[in-house]
Amino acid sequence: MDEDIQTGQGAAKEQIRENMAPRRRDVWLLGSVAIVVGLLMVIETAGLVKAADAASPTPAAIEGPYFKPNSPKRTSLLELGITGTKFVLTGRVLSTAGKPIAGARLDFWQADGKGEYDNVGYKLRGHQFADQAGRYRLETIVPGEYGSRPRHLHVKVQASNGPVLATQLFFPGDRRDFIFNLDLVVKVQEAADGKVATFDFILDVK
Ligand code: FE
Repeated sequence: MDEDIQTGQGAAKEQIRENMAPRRRDVWLLGSVAIVVGLLMVIETAGLVKAADAASPTPAAIEGPYFKPNSPKRTSLLELGITGTKFVLTGRVLSTAGKPIAGARLDFWQADGKGEYDNVGYKLRGHQFADQAGRYRLETIVPGEYGSRPRHLHVKVQASNGPVLATQLFFPGDRRDFIFNLDLVVKVQEAADGKVATFDFILDVK
């Protein structure tokens, strides 16, 4: 009898172990999955934080041969004798951390509607300073193509005492040459009296 009872209890314990074993495995599996999901969330969050607080600086582009120092200080390059499609470009100058760079200097120069630069005087050349919010506004005309070059504006952007970023801005849908860069294409909209566009410059400063 004792033997039978012992055997019976042993079998019952064995049955309980059998029933428990899969549950322990499930719990262990669930725990492992939770840890992996948790780790992935931490990695993703870290990535998002990094993306939010560090934008890539605006790429440089070749300065070219037509820059002239000492351009007049002005926000409008429109003057008597300048013909073409009116073009208003606005945007901000920001740091890689997204902070406005108040007082940043922007020096623009460009070809006229026929693709010609004024290398004698200062037509279609001018510099200005970003306001307290880092904003700038340029009033000009759409530059013409010349040679193999797509339409482009040249610009030098500089935070006070910072390095000079010399680059070029392009128009969407234009032909591409070796200087063309999709990161330097302005966002354009048609306006009643020409075109309006936006572009934010991001300087490699904190
Ligand atoms: Fe040019």
